[in-house]
Amino acid sequence: MERVYNFSAGPAVLPEEVLKEAADEMLNYKGSGQSVMEMSHRSKVFDDIIKEAEADFREVLKVPDNYKVLFLQGGASQFFAEVPMNLMKNKKAGYILTGQWSKKAFAEAKIYGEAVELASSADKTFSYIPDCSDLPITDDMDYVYICENNTIYGTKYKELPNTKGKILVSDVSSCFLSEPMDVTKYGVVYGGVQKNVGPAGCVIAVIREDLITDDVLPGTPTLLKWKTQADALSLYNTPPCYTIYICGKVFKWLKKMGGLSAMKEHNEKKAKIFYDFLDSSKMFKGTVVAKDRSLMNAPFVTGNADLDAKFIKEAADAGFVNLKGHKTVGGMRASMYNAMPIEGVKKLVEFMEKFEKENA
Ligand SMILES: *Cc1c(COP(=O)(O)O)cnc(C)c1O
Repeated sequence: MERVYNFSAGPAVLPEEVLKEAADEMLNYKGSGQSVMEMSHRSKVFDDIIKEAEADFREVLKVPDNYKVLFLQGGASQFFAEVPMNLMKNKKAGYILTGQWSKKAFAEAKIYGEAVELASSADKTFSYIPDCSDLPITDDMDYVYICENNTIYGTKYKELPNTKGKILVSDVSSCFLSEPMDVTKYGVVYGGVQKNVGPAGCVIAVIREDLITDDVLPGTPTLLKWKTQADALSLYNTPPCYTIYICGKVFKWLKKMGGLSAMKEHNEKKAKIFYDFLDSSKMFKGTVVAKDRSLMNAPFVTGNADLDAKFIKEAADAGFVNLKGHKTVGGMRASMYNAMPIEGVKKLVEFMEKFEKENA
């Protein structure tokens, strides 16, 4: 069977050459006589894999020396709890609510202390990013939390909030490595890799060194204390070895493709093709305020649930899969991560044009 164009929000499309390389190495990784799935995480051969992955990640994202890079488990959802556990010294933090994932992080933080809603776009179904230039941030807040790219609703911060000197914590799960970012503006940047980086099973966290301490909330499990993981170089216990190995290959692919500036250009081209079509179509409409549109996730609707369902089915039959919108929003969503070729988006738009003519 032919490979499809996969518009899934995650787990999502990976670069084909990475998959081919992994297939070639499946039974015998670099003369070790073993698959990476089979080898000890304490072996020299795996140690080289994780160290090289970290070095390439640092190079691609331009991570400053005073930040640690941790490979963790539990998904972004577990990290929602790790943030307050490790950072809530005053037991108070500010959250900006721009969708499902920031709401979940907010609810999780409330288990550990006082989580304050600083701003929200819930009034218009999270279709925009609120003004974050003068938020009610108080001196006793330990950090300000955002979800930078809203996977479900399709918005992205084009400008970071004014945190009034407080540490910024950002969930970048669905825009990780999609464009360059200035890590120095953040205290903590983290994301589940299964959206734009690799297979499911790993969270990469980039944390400023001074925020990694023994001073965590009482009852914090050993494994969820960042210091444990930082001291052990992400090898306190068995890490998601195979996922880290594939992520390492993706970092090399990104370097070969010209790094994150080239990726940004590539992603902007795809998004322009898609949004220009939505803006000209009489049948398909985007659901997000234009200036806040994500390059990665583009939700859209026809305004007619039966027509949406017909479109999703016919698109899948034509080889454009996983276009169904999130269950909480309905409609459709095209996720156009790094590994989605421009050709995939062009062909999807051609398919949509044809569908529109046939169903007008
Ligand atoms: C998918 C997603 C999550 C949840 O990720 P898990 O790894 O499944 O816990 C959190 N935040 C964002 C922005 C996401 O896209």
